[in-house]
Parts: sequence; C-alpha cells; structure tokens
Amino acid sequence: MEFELSSEMRELQLSVRHLAQAKIKPRAREIDATGDYPQDIFDEFQKADLLGLCIPEEYGGSGAGIMGLTLAIEEVTKYSNVLGLMLLLTRLPTGPIMIAGNEEQKQKYLPGIARGTQRAAFCLSESGAGSDVAGMRTRAIEDPDHEGRFLLSGTKCWISGGMQADWLVVFAKVGDPTSRLHTGIWGFIVDAHAEGVTRPRVDRKMGVKGIDTTEIVFDNVAVGPRDLIGGGFALAMESLNAMRPIVAARGIGLAEGALMYATQYVKERQAFTKTIAEFQGIQWEIAKCATEIEAARLLTYRAAWLADQGKYTKEYVPMLSMAKYFASEVAVKASRLALQLLGAAGYMEDHPTEQYYRDAPQLTIVEGTSQVQLGLIARGVLSRDLWWD
Ligand SMILES: Cc1cc2nc3c(=O)[nH]c(=O)nc-3n(C[C@H](O)[C@H](O)[C@H](O)COP(=O)(O)OP(=O)(O)OC[C@H]3O[C@@H](n4cnc5c(N)ncnc54)[C@H](O)[C@@H]3O)c2cc1C
Repeated sequence: MEFELSSEMRELQLSVRHLAQAKIKPRAREIDATGDYPQDIFDEFQKADLLGLCIPEEYGGSGAGIMGLTLAIEEVTKYSNVLGLMLLLTRLPTGPIMIAGNEEQKQKYLPGIARGTQRAAFCLSESGAGSDVAGMRTRAIEDPDHEGRFLLSGTKCWISGGMQADWLVVFAKVGDPTSRLHTGIWGFIVDAHAEGVTRPRVDRKMGVKGIDTTEIVFDNVAVGPRDLIGGGFALAMESLNAMRPIVAARGIGLAEGALMYATQYVKERQAFTKTIAEFQGIQWEIAKCATEIEAARLLTYRAAWLADQGKYTKEYVPMLSMAKYFASEVAVKASRLALQLLGAAGYMEDHPTEQYYRDAPQLTIVEGTSQVQLGLIARGVLSRDLWWD
C-alpha cells in the first residue's frame, strides 16, 4: 500500500497549485459576478497542457489519467468551482468514447479536446428524467431513406457547457421511447452545429456561474453510423461511475478553499480581547471539518486509482459512489462553516464565502444526487459485496 503521490503526480499538483494561485484566485469573483464564459482561463489551461490530462497520449493527451485530472481539479476548485467544472468537461463527454468508442471515433474526437481546439458536452438529463435515466424520451429512429443513419429527436436540459460545445454525446432510445428496457438506450455523437440542433435557452443559476447550463433541442437530427457509440444504459452508467472521483475532487477542493479562507480570517479577527481562533469551540469545528476533508480526499484518491485501472464497472460502484457522496456533502458543510466563521462579513459579497456557499450544493445534485449515491452504496452493503467474501 502506497500513500505517497508519484513524483510526476506531485509535480502536476504543484504546478496546478501555482497556476491556480496566480491566475484563478484573482479572477474567481469576477467570473461569478459577470457570469461570462472565462475564455482567458481556458487559454491558460490550454497553454499549461491541462485540457488533455485524462486523454491517452496516443490521442494527443498527456495520459495523466483520472488521478491527474482529480489532482488538478482539486487545486483549481480551491478558488473556483466553475473552473473545476471547465476541466471536468474534458472528461465527461469524452468518457463514453474512451470506454466504448471505436478507433476512428477516438482519433476524430479526442485530440481536439486535448489540444483545446474543440469543446464538448454530455447530454443525458431531461426535464422529466434526471435521476431516472431510463425515463428519458429522446429517441433515435432509423432513417428510412439512408441505411444505417438515425434521426434524433428530443430535448435535453441543464447541459453544462452546452453553449460552447462543438460536439455532443447524446443518449437516446432506439425503439419505443416509453420502454424502460436498458438495452434500448444508445449513445450518439452529434455535431452541435448540425441542422436540427438548437439551444433555445440558458438557465439562470444560483452558483457555478461562468459556464452556462442550457437546454438543447434535437429535431430530426441526422446521425450517421460512424457516430453511433451504442453501449446501452450500461455505457451511460459506467461513464458516470468513472466520473465519481472527478466530481468528488471538486468537492474536496471547494471544502479546502473555503476552510483555508475562513481559517485565515479567524486568526486575525478579534473578539473578547482574543482572536476568534483562540476559542476552543472554533478550533474544534475547524478540526472536525479538516478531518472530514481528509477522509473525503482518501475516498476520492482511491476512487481515482480504481477508475484508472478500469475498475468502474458494477462491482466497484459503492466505492466510487462513496467518494462522490461524501466529498460533495463535505463541500456543503465546509462552505456553511466558513460562512459562519466570518459572521456578518461571511454573508457579504466582500468575501468569497457566500460564493462557496452558493456553489457547493451543485455538487450534491449533478451526476447522481446524494440520494442516488446512497441508494447505490446501500445496494452494495445489502448484497454483502463490500467487506465479505
Ligand atoms: C448545474 C447543473 C449542471 C448539470 N449539468 C448536466 C450535464 O452536463 N449533463 C446532464 O445530462 N445533466 C446535467 N445536470 C442534471 C443533473 O445530472 C440532474 O439534475 C440530476 O441527475 C438529478 O436529476 P433531477 O434534477 O431531475 O432530480 P430528480 O431526479 O427529479 O430528483 C429530485 C429529488 O428526488 C430525489 N430522488 C430521485 N430519485 C430518488 C430515489 N430513487 N431515491 C431517493 N431519492 C430520490 C433526488 O435525490 C432529489 O433530491 C446538471 C444539473 C445541474 C444542477
């Protein structure tokens, strides 16, 4: 058993830490205030070669894997959850292609993401089908005029990065859209500028501002056989399973950032002739929070290690879900504590604590809510899969 990062991973962690301190920390509040897409930071990520961390070297990436991306996202999210999301979006839509795509698809779609010349989004959720993926109604019917071609129709919603995306991975049902048959759900790669694709509205969100979520409508969009991934419901789930440490990384980064900020404040703020940090009641809250963050980090790093070994199939689900569940809940708790530790100041826009507090709950919702993760963990415990032979 090895608890140290390899020298390459440590180097990556430190270089992203420095980049985050120099470029992200000064910009984070402004990005939140304007809500404008931070192209300047995308360019910084591109220059620093961070957009291809999880993409194998043979497809133009740096091959740092999910572990590398996890470490980078943790550092970035100490200051900005939305910029953690920017890095996450290099993996979410490329995941299904890396897992189940053919060689031609990998050659065509992965290098552009790694180089930063293309962006993509992942289209699974619908207004009536978020947690309940099998309830989706988007459908793909075979084009009667072109053999092997499909026509896609339906509406996806809350799609992160949908406005900037050049291509989309879309999950749709082939056959009866009311059927809950798992094999009837297939993945397709869709040109975001194709005829029939529209992005009629962006959402007004409480946090994670700077990368919009959008509704995307597909109206008889033609998708050729070369852009069919297939895969079934299992592909959607395995893609999300492999993402658990990456979302969890945003949770631990946000929690660390919020706690670091509040800790600095309590060492300076005076009350009752002392600094607030000298009160034992405050120290214990900080200590409990730090312990939970470390526990979340261990779960997250282990989940990243599992995912990098291809261990994101059904039997590993509880371990992966624990990381996402725990780290995102710790982020919410830490952001609440940080705000409280600053008192009135923490409630005001003069400090980033109110932003951490608005940004954190997104993590307990996206890519499987906390309740959905608990369901998956419970299934592992009840079936005695975890610690028993
Ligand atoms: C900012 C943001 C960005 C997003 N980005 C994307 C994206 O890029 N691509 C994409 O496809 N989707 C995206 N989503 C959608 C997200 O994945 C869904 O919101 C999520 O899966 C939950 O679905 P829902 O919102 O429909 O909630 P619902 O499924 O309606 O759930 C509502 C509540 O019921 C609970 N619940 C549901 N089922 C159960 C159950 N079986 N047991 C116990 N409790 C249950 C949930 O935990 C939740 O508390 C994004 C969402 C947000 C907020």
